[in-house]
Amino acid sequence: MRTYGSLIGNKEINTISSSTFSTINPKTNLIIHNQFIEATLDDVRNATELAKNALFSYSKSNKKSTFLNLIAKKLEENRKILIENYCLESGLPENRGNIELNRTIFQLQAFSKLIENENWEIVHFSQANENRTPTRKPELTKKRLPIGVVAVFGASNFPFAYSTVGGDTASAFAAGCPVIVKCHPFHAETSCLVARLVNEAIQELELPEGTFSHLLASDYLIGEALIKDANISAVGFTGSIKGGLALQKIAQNRTIPIPVFAEMGSQNPIFIFESIFNQKTSESLSKKLTASITQNSGQFCTKPGVIFIPQSKHGIQLINELKKLIHEQEIEVMLHPNIYFNFKNLTELIGEQKNVNQTISIKYSELENQGRGMLTEMNFDTYINNPVFHQEVFGPHCFIVKYEDENQLNDFIKKTEGQLTISIFYDNVFSSLNESFLFECEQKAGRIIFNGVPTGVEVDAAMQHGGPFPSSSDSRFTAVGTDSIDRFTRKVTFQK
Ligand code: NAP
Repeated sequence: MRTYGSLIGNKEINTISSSTFSTINPKTNLIIHNQFIEATLDDVRNATELAKNALFSYSKSNKKSTFLNLIAKKLEENRKILIENYCLESGLPENRGNIELNRTIFQLQAFSKLIENENWEIVHFSQANENRTPTRKPELTKKRLPIGVVAVFGASNFPFAYSTVGGDTASAFAAGCPVIVKCHPFHAETSCLVARLVNEAIQELELPEGTFSHLLASDYLIGEALIKDANISAVGFTGSIKGGLALQKIAQNRTIPIPVFAEMGSQNPIFIFESIFNQKTSESLSKKLTASITQNSGQFCTKPGVIFIPQSKHGIQLINELKKLIHEQEIEVMLHPNIYFNFKNLTELIGEQKNVNQTISIKYSELENQGRGMLTEMNFDTYINNPVFHQEVFGPHCFIVKYEDENQLNDFIKKTEGQLTISIFYDNVFSSLNESFLFECEQKAGRIIFNGVPTGVEVDAAMQHGGPFPSSSDSRFTAVGTDSIDRFTRKVTFQK
C-alpha cells in the first residue's frame, strides 16, 4: 500500500497525525490500495506562508518559461504511470487519458512560449512628450503583474487538463503566481504523481520553495480554510455550480474579498432549425448529437443538455433516430459514486415530473454504475415552465424539447441563464439567422457554434471558454487558451 502526504513546499507531510482516505476504482467500486493523509489547518497555514514568501523571487525569476516546459517534459516522460493511475481512478479510457495529457502538455508549452518574450507583460506603452504644454506628458507603461498566491480546485472529469497542473495552475505559474492545489479526492494518486513532478522541476531549477504546494483533503474544511487565508489572492475553480458558488461566497465574505474564477456547469442548448434538413440528413445529425451526448458518459461541461427540435416530419424522424442510437450506445462507467448518485437522483426526479416521456431508461450493471444514454422528451411549454428541467444533468442525459414555432426559441433564449455554449444548426447556404435571435444568443453564451456540437474545446488563443453567470463566475475571462492568464494578473502603470 502506498501512502501519500500533502506537499508543503518541498516537504511531504507523511506523519499520520490525522485521518486518511483512499480512492476507489469506479469500474469495480473497490478501494484502491493507497492512502492519503488528510492535510491539517497547520498545513494550510504553512503552505500559504511559504507561497507568500516565494512570490517575490518566483515572480521575478527568469526561469518561469523553462519551468513550464520542464513540467511538460516530465509529464511526457512519466506518461505510462500517469495514464495507468488516471484510468484506474477515473474509469476513463486510455485513449481519452492520452488525449487529455497531450492537451495538458500543450497548454504548458503554450504558456511557456507566451512568456518567453518579456514584452507579454506590457499592455500599453505611451511615450513621454517633453514639449507638451502646459505640462509635460509622462512616459506610461501599463504592465500585467502577478495577482499573488493562487489556490486551485480542479474538477473530477479532467484529472489532467483541469486539475493539478491543468489550465488554472499553468496560467497562474505563467503569470508569476505561486500555486496551492487542493487535490480532487477522487483522483488523489494521479494528482500526487503530477504534484511530485512539479516539485521535482522546482528543485531542479532551484526555484523558491513554496512556488507550489499540494494539499490532500477529502472534506471541505481544508479548501475553505485555504480561501479564507489572508495570503491567498485569487482562486481558480472548475466544478459544479454548487461548489463554485459556495467558494465564491467564502471569498466575498473575507475582510479583503478576492476573486474566484469559477468555471461551472451549463446546459449548452442546441437549436435545430428546420432549414438544416436541406443540408443534412437526420441520420447524420443524430450520429453527431449522440456522440456528443454520450462520449465519456456525457461527463463534459460542454455536453449538450437540451436540444430544441421542430415538431415536423424531419424533426420527429431525428428524434426517433436519436432514441434508437442513444439506446444502442454503451456508456462507460461514471467517474465516482457522488457523480453517479447525483445523476441517478436527478434523472429520477426528472422522470417524476408531469408530461415527460423518459423514452430510454438507464440500464445498470450489477455494479449499479454502468448503463446507457438517456433522453427525456417533452413539448416546449412543459420544458419552459418547470425549473427542474433548467439545470445541468452531468452525465449521459439530454432533454429533447419539441417546438412548434421558431418564435418559441426567442422566448427561451430571453429567459435562459448564462451558458458556456449555444449551438445552432441551420442551412447556412440559403437561409440567414434572425439578427435579434443571434443577439440574444450573444447575450447568453461564451461560444456560439454553427452547425457543430459543443464538446471538444479547442485550446487556442481565439477560444472563449466561459460564459455569463452561472456558467462562469466572471464572463469577461476565459479558462482555456493563453488569454486565461489574464485571470491571474493585475495591471499596474509605471509612470516616469
Ligand atoms: P465539484 O464536486 O464541484 O468539485 C470540484 C472541486 O471543488 C473538488 O475539489 C471539491 O472538493 C471542491 N468543492 C466542491 N464544493 C465545495 C465546497 N462547498 N466547499 C469546498 N470545496 C468544494 O465538481 P466535480 O463533480 O468534480 O466536476 C463536475 C462538474 O464540473 C460539472 O458540473 C461540470 O460541468 C463542471 N466542469 C466545468 C468545467 C468548465 O470549464 N466550465 C470543466 C469541467 C467540469 P471535494 O472533492 O472534496 O468535494
